Amino acid sequence: MKIYISADMEGISGVVSSSHVEAGSGEYERFRRLMTREVNAVIEAALECGASEIVVNDSHNKMDNILIEEFHPKACLISGSPKPLSMMQGIDETFDAVFFVGYHARPGVAEAIMDHTYTGTVMYAKINGKLMSEAGLNGRLAGYFGVPVALVTGDQNAVKCAKDELNDPVGVVVKEAITRYSAKVYPFDVVREKIREGVKKAIEKLPNLKPTVEQGPVELEVSFYRSIMADMALLIPGMAKKDGRTVVYTAKDYLEAYKVFRAALAINSGVQ
Ligand SMILES: [Zn+2]
Repeated sequence: MKIYISADMEGISGVVSSSHVEAGSGEYERFRRLMTREVNAVIEAALECGASEIVVNDSHNKMDNILIEEFHPKACLISGSPKPLSMMQGIDETFDAVFFVGYHARPGVAEAIMDHTYTGTVMYAKINGKLMSEAGLNGRLAGYFGVPVALVTGDQNAVKCAKDELNDPVGVVVKEAITRYSAKVYPFDVVREKIREGVKKAIEKLPNLKPTVEQGPVELEVSFYRSIMADMALLIPGMAKKDGRTVVYTAKDYLEAYKVFRAALAINSGVQ
């Protein structure tokens, strides 16, 4: 059984502040260690349930947060950026399941630690008219390759977004968000136990779990916080304007929609 793990940082247990997730800040070194520990706990639980191969893709910011010197010796790590498929680099049809670890809610959701989608430029992203968090967007890429998302960990609204957007993944709530920057957090022993139970449940239900597949054509809609970002995204051939800050693109399949989404954000890196 081959497992693909995409690991973000805002939804790691204990993380509540932007200083916890920003390289260079005083607290970051501490929290990247906690992220590594939590990813290791997921790997350990998956191995206990019969996983034979585990690939972890570091999916937060510069994507080099997980400490290789403390990383579980039975898994392998994709580290660094940029990479073409970003948070899903390395996914293909050979995997049996995808796990999202440390995920967060889409922008505008209340009681959600550091809600956003990919970058601070995106006000919302929709696929075929439906609002998507990173779990929804990334889970559909897994679906394109025929792989179901079996597990999502994060705060209660990260889990809720993923359950709304995907075919029935198991959710593990590792902290209860109060505001964007506060949460009720648990000691790691409690979190580890919740993760162990969640992974077990996810692997048990795998035979009945269906990938989330978006049949083509696929409509991508992205609304940015500023109109200049929509103007820049319109440089992509085939991109159309919906309103001052919103663009739409009709892709032949989900892989193309995802690539266009990535390109629209890449064009806007550095645009204020
Ligand atoms: Zn994220």
